Amino acid sequence: MGERYDLIVIGAGPGGYVAAIKAAKLGKKTALIEKREIGGTCLNRGCIPTKTLMHSTHFLYEAEKMKNAGIAFEGLSIDYEKLMARKDEVVAGLRKGIEGLLKANGVNVYRGTARIIDKTTVKVKGTDDETDLQAENILIATGSVPVKPAIEGADLKNVVTSDELLSGQVKPEKKLLIIGGGVIGVEIATIYSELGCEVEIIELMDRILPGMDKEISQSIALGLKKRNIKIHTGAKVVKISENGSYGLVCEYIEKENTKTTEAQTILMAAGRKPNTEGLFEVVKPKMDGAYIKVNNNFETSIPGVYAIGDVIRGKQLAHAASAQAVAAVEIICGYKPSIDLDVIPSCVYTNPEVATVGLDEAEAAALGYNVKIGKYPMLGNGKTLLSMGERGFIKLVCDADSGRILGAQLLCDRATDMVGELALAISKKLTYKDLASLIRPHPTYEEAITEAAEDIEGMAIHLM
Ligand code: FAD
Repeated sequence: MGERYDLIVIGAGPGGYVAAIKAAKLGKKTALIEKREIGGTCLNRGCIPTKTLMHSTHFLYEAEKMKNAGIAFEGLSIDYEKLMARKDEVVAGLRKGIEGLLKANGVNVYRGTARIIDKTTVKVKGTDDETDLQAENILIATGSVPVKPAIEGADLKNVVTSDELLSGQVKPEKKLLIIGGGVIGVEIATIYSELGCEVEIIELMDRILPGMDKEISQSIALGLKKRNIKIHTGAKVVKISENGSYGLVCEYIEKENTKTTEAQTILMAAGRKPNTEGLFEVVKPKMDGAYIKVNNNFETSIPGVYAIGDVIRGKQLAHAASAQAVAAVEIICGYKPSIDLDVIPSCVYTNPEVATVGLDEAEAAALGYNVKIGKYPMLGNGKTLLSMGERGFIKLVCDADSGRILGAQLLCDRATDMVGELALAISKKLTYKDLASLIRPHPTYEEAITEAAEDIEGMAIHLM
């Protein structure tokens, strides 16, 4: 019999480490098992690396714009190794912070690969030992891993996933071809185009960011094209081979025509799969496709075994995993979940940024709402003009009968920082009049929320 815990958490990403700390804070004796680095995909191979790189590369883009404001930089240069080193420094600093929090909260961290033996036993295989742990409850937070589609040539050198690209193993300088125009593909396209690399995107669906509001995805596509990023939609990659002046040639079918394009590096950003490899032996939970199936309480078909985050079906986002972690632990501890899990903002860190929450116009109409839209173009917003911001808008989707805010779509600078206010409005069932009744500071981007709320009755002051 191994050491006994109240809760064993498997996986230390934003789902697992948050669950472990929350459980410890609620008085549970908690073990956390991680086979790679603390912080999971988000910290080590996802959110933080991409946004750190982007913070630096956006500066290059902004510096170019400043020429029109009387500030010119001489001899701007890029040190790719230093760029990657700073990213690693940020990741290491945050990782140290999480490790400190786990320690301070008394969470016992086990390094190794976890295997669930039965509903109360987990085996941890370390580098040279194996430990059995027992617990009343087990929480699976093993996340997801990138997948390469089964295309001929997908295994060639320099055909990589976001894991390899962000680790700095490859250095696309001349031409990066991205297969998949979802959030990851679009963000990485922005980073490398700002670094001066030629970028091309091939997307299977009829538009990039296919899961988002149509106007947003069209506007982002326009913005990327303005930066000379080539985009092919409704296009299917069929083969990759080693050839051409850049080293790789990609064959794809676009509008029934077979075409080719060359690349130095090809990024496969066409999907991720839930990570359940080797996790179960005899006792296995019911699955929902490749995902672990859970009920409304995040409990799997094995009583006492729970799952959250990327390993279950839903939005694959760090803040969704963390929110589910808190809710699942509260449920395990006998409390009612304290978080509204129905309102999850989605963000794309392009330039300008995208943030959406709740329903878009088409979704609200399909659900039978009497939809009313309030929209404010950012070109009328003082902060956008003075900071040389790009075109964009803030759109509010509202139920005309009750006045309630049903959704919001933001395409503007700092959209990702502003969407929280609108998420709160949706969660707390506020109306557009509530939003319009608030004084917002001047000059700020968020003044556009006031204008969009006023526009629902055609009363926006700064709109013709
Ligand atoms: P993960 O973060 O994947 O963590 C799971 C952990 O479990 C891993 O550390 C893994 O090693 C460990 N593990 C797996 N199996 C075992 C086992 N058997 N034993 C022990 N340990 C195990 N989301 C956002 O919200 N914002 C963003 O800006 C954003 N950007 C992204 C950019 C990229 C390039 C990528 C790839 C993802 C991005 N995401 C972003 C998504 C986000 O990273 C994930 O949604 C989030 O990390 C999921 O958290 P999780 O805890 O469920 O799983």
